[in-house]
Amino acid sequence: MSDTSKQDFVFDLNRDRLREIIAALGEPSFRADQVWNALYVNLVENPDQISTLSKSLRTRLTSTLSFSHLDLVTRVSSKDGTTIKTLFRLPDGKKLESVLMRYDDRNTLCISSQSGCAMGCVFCATGQMGFARNLSSGEIVEQVLFFARELAAIGQSVTNIVLMGMGEPFHNYDAVLEAIRRLNDPLGFNLGARRFTISTVGIVPMIRRFADEKNQVNLAISLHAATDEQRSSLLPVNRKYPIKELLDACRYYVETTHRRITFEWALIQEVNDFEQDARELAALVKGLLCHVNIIPLNPTNKFTGKSTTHERALAFQAVLVKNGIPCTIRLRRGLDINAGCGQLASTVQ
Ligand code: SAH
Ligand code: SF4
Repeated sequence: MSDTSKQDFVFDLNRDRLREIIAALGEPSFRADQVWNALYVNLVENPDQISTLSKSLRTRLTSTLSFSHLDLVTRVSSKDGTTIKTLFRLPDGKKLESVLMRYDDRNTLCISSQSGCAMGCVFCATGQMGFARNLSSGEIVEQVLFFARELAAIGQSVTNIVLMGMGEPFHNYDAVLEAIRRLNDPLGFNLGARRFTISTVGIVPMIRRFADEKNQVNLAISLHAATDEQRSSLLPVNRKYPIKELLDACRYYVETTHRRITFEWALIQEVNDFEQDARELAALVKGLLCHVNIIPLNPTNKFTGKSTTHERALAFQAVLVKNGIPCTIRLRRGLDINAGCGQLASTVQ
């Protein structure tokens, strides 16, 4: 195991902090701008690759800062090559996963905000493994740079980022927002806020705080059930933040930001995939600027519920459509490598 955790991690730093560190090495501030540009525009991995710096400065940077926290353990690709899942080890031995999904017109990267998750949703592999720790902003950023480098080598880029990997983003709010801001920087990685989507299990105070940020990041809410009894049995966090409070916060978000909200609903056979469930869902979200993403459940080890059938998914969708609720059935991806929603962590235990 490396001792990188004792040094400042370069991707944890904002531009001002990097300037301070480079000034403390006795260098002018334009050197910091060169380093920033090299890291976030040229996507270099370490100072040795920054040819505009003197040999001496490269050496001092290497001994002052850590340039990587993510150690690649495994990298698997789906049979059709369009989904790539990576498992990384952090300096303290904790693990996390990221998944790249390649489409004809975009490359969507699904990243983790935590190692494990404390929310305990019964159908989710990450929830089943429990919580290890929060990721730092730099550990979130480095997942993106890892794939950005790989894609740059074939003339492509990361076009969309979803915080739907391991962890609950609003349980690590500050680091997640800081990572997004760092990746937004027009003088750096320059990926626009509207290219990001945060998915949350429904931490009500953080949804309100997020609304007040008034940024253009998209928000998705894992709803999955329309009654408190059923939602609490699937998502324990519902006991703390029940559906009414959650929907009030969602309405506040839409009123404040004028942005559409996405609701996610994983269909579990004969649990929450009845037409009656769809009617209750429609009644809950009626009048709200929203979209429902219907996701057939992906199997996980410790949950006995089954995925819905295609027919039942279509019938569920038909009820929503009849009630004027925009919705789509999300295509499942990467199932042969356990990279579907909620399946991350299956290789970690
Ligand atoms: N913690 C956040 C983001 C990570 S989970 C959240 O819960 O929203 C990303 C999405 O995958 C969530 O909508 C989650 O409910 C869903 N999910 C979890 N396990 C799943 C499974 N086994 N099948 C289908 N979707 C699942
Ligand atoms: Fe955590 Fe999201 Fe999984 Fe729930 S669904 S356990 S909040 S990662």
